[in-house]
Amino acid sequence: MKILVLNSGSSSIKFELIDVGSDLRLAEGGVERIGEKNATLNIKIHKPDGQAGQHCQEAVAIHDHRSGLQRCLERLVQSGVIRDSSDLNGIGHRIVHGGSVFSEPVVVDNAVLQKLRGLSQLAPLHNPAGIAGIEVAQQLAPDVPQVAVFDTAFHHSLPSEAYCYALPRELCERHGLRRYGFHGTSHRYLCRMAARQLNRPEGEVNLITLHLGNGASMTAIRNGKSVDTSMGFTPLEGLVMGTRSGDIDPAIPVFLVQQAGYSAEQVDELLNRASGLKGLCGANDMREVLQQAGDGNADAELAVNVFCYRIRKYIGAYFAVLGRLDALVFSAGIGEYSPEIRRRCCINLQHLGITIDDERNRQAVGTLAEINSRDAATKVLVIPTDEELEIAYATRDCLNRN
Ligand code: ADP
Repeated sequence: MKILVLNSGSSSIKFELIDVGSDLRLAEGGVERIGEKNATLNIKIHKPDGQAGQHCQEAVAIHDHRSGLQRCLERLVQSGVIRDSSDLNGIGHRIVHGGSVFSEPVVVDNAVLQKLRGLSQLAPLHNPAGIAGIEVAQQLAPDVPQVAVFDTAFHHSLPSEAYCYALPRELCERHGLRRYGFHGTSHRYLCRMAARQLNRPEGEVNLITLHLGNGASMTAIRNGKSVDTSMGFTPLEGLVMGTRSGDIDPAIPVFLVQQAGYSAEQVDELLNRASGLKGLCGANDMREVLQQAGDGNADAELAVNVFCYRIRKYIGAYFAVLGRLDALVFSAGIGEYSPEIRRRCCINLQHLGITIDDERNRQAVGTLAEINSRDAATKVLVIPTDEELEIAYATRDCLNRN
């Protein structure tokens, strides 16, 4: 089954063409800087075994998303991976926000598009681009079913005590203020893969999944369902991230406005782009932060400590939420590639059954691995996340249901 996975940003389109079944990538690429003079088209056509093959990059005049996607489809046809768009069994779109409306992936029709437009105020930077992606894909491939897959949907199972903020009910209802949670596609994939690794049905596993990339979030999963997650109304809440603060006293923004002369826009910029690791030590890339900490830079050492301490605190909280934990799962750039951060996140957790085997941890770099010590009660897994593959699975499952 050939599924085209699309991730549309305000000035870019990224795609992967996946053969669901063999789960091989047939092609991937996209267009960047749409509408600018230096727009570029990038396409990799994979060999039949999924290994990277032919790669082309070209500067092209691309004025809008429609001509961008058209170019990508033309290249796919020219390269022979599809005969024409009707060769596609479905197009899966990554949509950031499904609000309270969408609890699972949906086949897009006019009513769905209408509801999606109504949600744009919850994710003004992301949802409009996703909707634009759906509209141009509908125009260019009118006979191919389009499926919207939401970053929030996996967290729809959160119980009310986990998603409600202690704010006036009426206010929350009027503005949709609640915990939605994000990175749901990744946490869902990690649950699927962890269950496979544990050799247990998904519906029976209790997990804490850690998606630690530039953006970072953790999820408590009970019997295969998300029951709490660290990101909230927006992706700003929770863990320390590359440039985002994560949890802070909610009175700090008010203080900054009333006492330090900040505007609302400046507070937004500060918390989203100048805080987190960057705010603590000036670097937002964890490789650089670890390097500086190793060189004796006290600010970088503090940044690593604050980052890992926040994670340990959430592990404790989610352990209390779950009661029984089968596995702790590390993923995304930092989780997959940094033994040092994994080690520090698991310090002093032996009373929860969590101990890491140093050698196994050191060897697990960018691959699926079990890194707990052999006699530990709780598994600690490293699982490379694959959001595109999860979107392709979700698209297939949604089309099969319909
Ligand atoms: P995103 O998809 O959110 O942009 P990634 O999942 O690619 O992010 O993760 C990016 C993060 O992973 C960066 O902070 C980067 O420094 C970190 N990272 C990648 N490789 C390593 C490594 N070897 N050691 C530590 N951090 C790493």
